[in-house]
Amino acid sequence: MVTRIDESAVVLIAMRNDVVLNLTPTELERYRRQIMLPGFGEDAQRQLKATTVLVTGVGGLGGTAAVYLAVAGIGRLILVRGGDLRLDDMNRQILMTHDWVNRPRVFKAKETLERINPDVQIDAICEYITPDNVDQLVQSADLALDCAHNFDERNWLNAACVRWQKPMIEAAMNDMEAYLTTIVPGQTPCLSCIFPEKPDWDRRGFGVLGAVSGTLACLTALEAIKLITGLGQPLQSQLLTMNFNHMEFVKRRPYHDPDCPVCGSLSFTQRVLDQSVRSAPANSLDWVALNR
Ligand SMILES: [Zn+2]
Repeated sequence: MVTRIDESAVVLIAMRNDVVLNLTPTELERYRRQIMLPGFGEDAQRQLKATTVLVTGVGGLGGTAAVYLAVAGIGRLILVRGGDLRLDDMNRQILMTHDWVNRPRVFKAKETLERINPDVQIDAICEYITPDNVDQLVQSADLALDCAHNFDERNWLNAACVRWQKPMIEAAMNDMEAYLTTIVPGQTPCLSCIFPEKPDWDRRGFGVLGAVSGTLACLTALEAIKLITGLGQPLQSQLLTMNFNHMEFVKRRPYHDPDCPVCGSLSFTQRVLDQSVRSAPANSLDWVALNR
């Protein structure tokens, strides 16, 4: 994996020198409508095929994001989520079926995704993110989607992504509000910069509509696809906040803490530092409060 800085976007060059992935006739036809997008093409499709994405949390957010990465032709998904499917998950988890309630949800996610697109390699790991497994999981992937349901798992994943210099798409919601940002270690603020107070927050503790988690999931998958292929401009050093009651979407500049205990030792590019100096630290505090 090679990462380079573009003027407008960080582009992940997923095609390693020793890996040349050709597209089969079936793949060329399956992805024909996206290959024809301006700025996409067969090169972007091959980059998706050569990329491994780690998804932590396989619920209304992570599971739905995994669907859109699978149908887009991502090469490999590593799905990590412990625990069984519950009946009150079924208002938002489109990979699941009613007869799977009380069984490990991550295995049903793998089964459904493989039926949707048999060309995608799916690794299902029935575990939660812990300090013991996070480093190996992050090293196994090219980038991570942070869709876990609590801040402990999110903070462990953030720290591991910083340690191993792997990008992380950060997506979370609270009732009818949500946020999304792309974290590239050494180039953008990390999760600890944005949420320095480490709130005791558990996503199971509030209400959620499937259409809200699904909307955020689609945006999360889109963000990953853009980062992998170079399409458009990802939300790096930008925090997209969404209020679905009023359909208000606002981009904020997240605060980069030069003394951050997680990413403070990294040498940031001057461009990012210049942007962060102009940001308002209060923004991050607002979002800590929002997620309580
Ligand atoms: Zn940081």
